[in-house]
Amino acid sequence: MRLSQFHLHTSKETPAEAEIVSHKLMLKAGMIRKLAAGLYTWSPLGLRVLRKVERAVREEMNASGAIEVLMPSVQPRELWEETGRWEKFGGQLLKIQDRKEAWYCYGPTHEEVITDFARQELSSYKQLPVNFYQIQTKFRDEIRPRFGVMRAREFLMKDAYSFHLSDEDLGVEYKNMYDTYGRIFTRLGLKFRAVSADSGAIGGAVSHEFHVLAESGEDALAFHSGSDYAANVELAQAAEPAPRAAASEAMRKVDTPTQKTCEDVAALMGIALQRTVKSVAIIGADADGNAQFVLALVRGDHVVNEIKLSKLAGLGEYRLATEAEIVAHLGSEPGFLGPVAPRKAIRVIADRSVAAMADFVVGANEAGYHLAGINWGRDLAEPDVVADIRNVVEGDIAPDGEGTIGLARGIEVGHVFQLGRKYAEAMKLTVLDANGKAATPAMGCYGIGVSRIVAAAIEQNNDDNGIIWPEAMAPWQAVVCVINPKGDATVAQAAQDLYAELNAAGIETALDDRGLRPGAMFADMELIGIPHRIVVSERGLASGTFEYRHRRASEAENLDRAALLARLG
Ligand code: ATP
Ligand code: MG
Ligand code: MG
Ligand code: MG
Repeated sequence: MRLSQFHLHTSKETPAEAEIVSHKLMLKAGMIRKLAAGLYTWSPLGLRVLRKVERAVREEMNASGAIEVLMPSVQPRELWEETGRWEKFGGQLLKIQDRKEAWYCYGPTHEEVITDFARQELSSYKQLPVNFYQIQTKFRDEIRPRFGVMRAREFLMKDAYSFHLSDEDLGVEYKNMYDTYGRIFTRLGLKFRAVSADSGAIGGAVSHEFHVLAESGEDALAFHSGSDYAANVELAQAAEPAPRAAASEAMRKVDTPTQKTCEDVAALMGIALQRTVKSVAIIGADADGNAQFVLALVRGDHVVNEIKLSKLAGLGEYRLATEAEIVAHLGSEPGFLGPVAPRKAIRVIADRSVAAMADFVVGANEAGYHLAGINWGRDLAEPDVVADIRNVVEGDIAPDGEGTIGLARGIEVGHVFQLGRKYAEAMKLTVLDANGKAATPAMGCYGIGVSRIVAAAIEQNNDDNGIIWPEAMAPWQAVVCVINPKGDATVAQAAQDLYAELNAAGIETALDDRGLRPGAMFADMELIGIPHRIVVSERGLASGTFEYRHRRASEAENLDRAALLARLG
């Protein structure tokens, strides 16, 4: 690409509206322009980077055996009624009407559509397992769109959905996707961590998130130095407090700031501990992000039942449930909700969660925020630990005496989830098994925030002069800069020849023939983050060299043609 024929529009000004470095640099580099809250146009430069991410994701998904499809972004209400999510999804669901006044939504996710597709396409176990994916625009009416494309309302997601006859087979594909995600983020040159993403009150579901580690991350991650265990203690923006404004409002009024809440929960645990169950409580938000207090009973390693205390108490007047109420609500036959993490790991998340609560719970009832994923059953075995939790800080020895607790901030760029049969059952998807009997397939879903990755990569890779792209994401690997292209025909020709030669050698190269003064030209190329810069000048040509500088290097060096090609190859 000749930059004189391209559209670059950089700016020296630091945009006042941007809070984090990636947003600032994407605006300064002219990668995105805002249309309205959470809506962005990708400029030609930005789009080149976005397409690089998309390509890496697509190639690795294809290599993993997943098959690409493309579903509509506008989805009919009736489909969402089948799963109950038309009401339950909450205010992130943008509902729209056509001219006949029929209702649709702009898809925030595609479980319903893919399940509908599957019930038309899949009829026999012989077609399973299968994993369909798409790379497509989503819309979520985020309560607080911010940080540019990091938390946008319209954004690009890769979403995959797999179908299986057995749970074991789902587990195999889950592992395959988990490994594929590792390959994708490694290929993109990102420092990332997979963490256990507890689904809060909904026990039983296996789920991991992939986080790019960055100080600006919205999620708090806990690590245990003594094991591989890592977890999201999610201090994230609420999925959706809006539709139940009343619930949020009620929670805000609750006269229980942090400590009181902890003690309340401890008291609940006490009640439960007197019973035959080893119990624990979860505090946080439900799947729709509505603030909830939840009590979960854990027997051995399994969550056996759970109950939302707000149901017991009535909204707006949260109080401790009595033992009799808990027993009455749980009934004598607790349902099996699935395994909880092994105990050691539990202690680790727990400790971090607990610390996070001590730090952040006050104010967590602010609209737009919630705490989720805190499982008091796992995290806190004895109520007396509650007294210590306010003092847990990074680097502390874990209460089990083994290893220390570390805390990091992360940006969620991927999420894998074993859905089980929830959607297939709700939408009556069945296939014939080997005995000719109708069987409901188990499903997995796997998301990647393609557009968010662009911003997340910048959070990890920048300096005072701008972006420093990892090779796989750079708009071009190299740029050939021409000093005074109009003034000296020999220099211009030599630059063009080198530019053609590098592209022919498979090194994606731009030619900066815009005729800018060297200082302005170099500043632009540093700002937009091109990894390799080569300067062609009269002086260099006279001595048979090119001036080469890597974006991370502090000094340029003079290399002859062969040395330069060796360096770039
Ligand atoms: P978050 O916790 O950041 O709100 P999420 O858990 O709601 O994300 P998922 O439903 O897991 O998101 O969607 C899959 C991926 O889509 C996420 O891992 C994230 O990378 C990306 N994503 C979600 N919401 C947004 C958004 N508003 N803007 C950009 N990317 C997003
Ligand atoms: Mg969200
Ligand atoms: Mg999340
Ligand atoms: Mg998620």
